Amino acid sequence: MAIPLLDLKLQYAAIREEALRVTAEIYESQLFILGKRVDDFERDFAQYCQTRHALGISSGTDALLEALMVLGIGQGDEVIVPAYSFFATAGVVSRLGATPVFVDIDLTDYNLDPRLVEARITARTKAIMPVHLYGQCAPMDELMAIAAQRGIPVIEDAAQAVGCDYNGHRAGSIGTMGAFSFFPSKNLGAFGDAGAITTNDDELAARLVDYRVHGMRPKYFHHYVGGNFRIDALQAAMLHIKLPLLESWHEGRRRNADLYRRHFADAGLGERVVLPEELRGRRHIYNQYIVRFPEGSETRDRVMNHLKSVQIGCEVYYPLTLPQQPCFAGLTDESYPQSETAAQQTLAIPVFPELKEEQIAEVVREIRKALE
Ligand SMILES: *Cc1c(COP(=O)(O)O)cnc(C)c1O
Repeated sequence: MAIPLLDLKLQYAAIREEALRVTAEIYESQLFILGKRVDDFERDFAQYCQTRHALGISSGTDALLEALMVLGIGQGDEVIVPAYSFFATAGVVSRLGATPVFVDIDLTDYNLDPRLVEARITARTKAIMPVHLYGQCAPMDELMAIAAQRGIPVIEDAAQAVGCDYNGHRAGSIGTMGAFSFFPSKNLGAFGDAGAITTNDDELAARLVDYRVHGMRPKYFHHYVGGNFRIDALQAAMLHIKLPLLESWHEGRRRNADLYRRHFADAGLGERVVLPEELRGRRHIYNQYIVRFPEGSETRDRVMNHLKSVQIGCEVYYPLTLPQQPCFAGLTDESYPQSETAAQQTLAIPVFPELKEEQIAEVVREIRKALE
């Protein structure tokens, strides 16, 4: 029986009636841009993230981009980013004419290694942008301390981390701003592209509101060059329907992570498969369940090919480090051994909340077969 990496149809079944009713209401009203649907979602999303402000944005990428723009980051500036993340984390920096300065990750949590950050800070460093990769927070205490010492803003790339906790604080509430993605494969997914920015800073929040509509206030008076970074009312309404269910979905993913831990242990694969580790004080929301094969890329690829041959969904997030991307060729001659190891040895396997224990057992059984 095929097991997809992610099956959104099961989640949709739980909200179908309400989603169709609200969609019809929006179509009948013809109110597509901002307004009450967006306000309602922003209010509840800010509360969920424990922040004073949340702004609905057109995508996670635009949320990161706008966060950099309101800080005035551009030509000649540097932004510290992990060497291992989805492309957007570094892409937004380059789009503004600034330079992404890559720092290696820690293989324990696949996040920015704070011990390596200080050495890469220069007079031109205008922001530090940790990513809470796969759904577990980066070591924010250490990063915030480094940033505070120098007065450098911190933008959390929380695209994969809605609802992660770090010592009792929610992702997106710790740094200067947090950027979220509601791409359908994230734990809270829209019916298309959408994102959000959170902040506790009233002044930044006011500027974010203006930048979202071309720096405009009032209508047709433009104080800054912003962009069209608005979330659709339709997407905000769909997210508003889903938000109350998010905790139960997180719990489903966390239960599945526990089941994997048990089944991998029972299969005696402890040495050969490194499972994700939930670090003390952090709540992992398992946007991806990442296993690592320390024997190397050949073993990882053998498992991946076997799983695909028996129709079990799996994916490499990500096959290249950011400095290895062709578009960043020549940007740095530093080495990033931990990021390269992650790119060569990791594999995402299904963890979506509706997954059944029999399916988890089957995934583990097939991985064991591939390793025989
Ligand atoms: C998904 C993602 C983004 C971009 O979000 P989009 O909504 O797809 O634009 C940025 N950073 C990370 C780490 C992501 O996983």
